[in-house]
Amino acid sequence: MPVSADGILREPLVAKTREEEAAALAVNRQPWDPLPGMRKILCVECDYYFAARSATDTCPECVPKVQRRHARAERASMGW
Ligand SMILES: [Zn+2]
Repeated sequence: MPVSADGILREPLVAKTREEEAAALAVNRQPWDPLPGMRKILCVECDYYFAARSATDTCPECVPKVQRRHARAERASMGW
């Protein structure tokens, strides 16, 4: 199991191999219902379905990725 720089033992967030990725996606594609009060949304970044209470089009795992990209785009538009 990988240990991050802060010494905390973590499970990998994303599947490592193509086979694991395909299996995870296949499970994700099965019909499933979000918890009450949540909506089922297809993430525009990773193409996985996820459940969320708020109006969003990005799953929690992809949010940091999108934020980094926005930050970069903002710096670029300001000519940094
Ligand atoms: Zn995503």
